[in-house]
Amino acid sequence: MAISMKEFKASKLYIISMMTITCLISASVRANTSNIGNTSITGNNDNEFYWPNGARAAVNLSYDDALNSQLDNAIPALNQYDFKGSFYLTLGSKVVKERREDWRTIAEQGHELGNHTINHACSASLPNRHWVDKHNDLDNKTMAQIKQEIIEANHLLNAIDGQTVRTFTLPCADAIVEGKNLLPEISRYFVGIKSHVAVIPTSMSTYNPMDAPVIAPSGTSGQALIEQVKLAAKNNSIVSFTFHGIGAEHLAVSTDAHQQLLDYLAKNKTSYWVDTYRNISLYIDKSRQTSH
Ligand SMILES: [Zn+2]
Repeated sequence: MAISMKEFKASKLYIISMMTITCLISASVRANTSNIGNTSITGNNDNEFYWPNGARAAVNLSYDDALNSQLDNAIPALNQYDFKGSFYLTLGSKVVKERREDWRTIAEQGHELGNHTINHACSASLPNRHWVDKHNDLDNKTMAQIKQEIIEANHLLNAIDGQTVRTFTLPCADAIVEGKNLLPEISRYFVGIKSHVAVIPTSMSTYNPMDAPVIAPSGTSGQALIEQVKLAAKNNSIVSFTFHGIGAEHLAVSTDAHQQLLDYLAKNKTSYWVDTYRNISLYIDKSRQTSH
């Protein structure tokens, strides 16, 4: 890890947790032709999934925890190529309050403001979780409390961006509250949920956008990031990057590595569909609906 334990503790926001959640759906992905916005869907079949405009993979660039370095470093890099990313805000962060207009501006530019709860509660009972504050320990919260917090976070996000459709990323990949799985309790409020860290999907046939895997880079080289998108293209699937700091702050990836990834995606625009997780989830859902 690229940060010290002291910084961890200070940040209270650490999202590497290797959870294997095997709640995968099996779905036929045959499609006729339909549209999501200006994105056309054509001809999916049972064995292959067809991304818009002949792309070989979908790429979602996400940024968790509402950090200054995301606004200062990631946004200019994304906007340079007109790439749209997803920014999962922890609404209780002072960076949301201090830079509310900046978050509003990026939403107007087409980036997604995603839900990452208000308080970012994580389970203190899991390994390496000594940094979790007692008052914010998921193990001491009720399902009703967490559900209410997530609904309120959607209201606060709506007050910033005016949107009613968005996606969610689970803080610390912790899905268990009061011994039960949180995801079914909140799925009705979102079109997509990222729930765990895992490898690139080997195909789209078992991909569930409501229980989706992410790659969570930290200190990763540009070349290693590029290898992940190449693997997604080889698998004709998807890669969701969950970044934190860009060039600064916790779990950082350098601005150079981030730029190298974006440069590669821009040079290979016909191969990769780069978009918000909101748009990608809507596309997958629509594609499956029209396949029957
Ligand atoms: Zn987080």
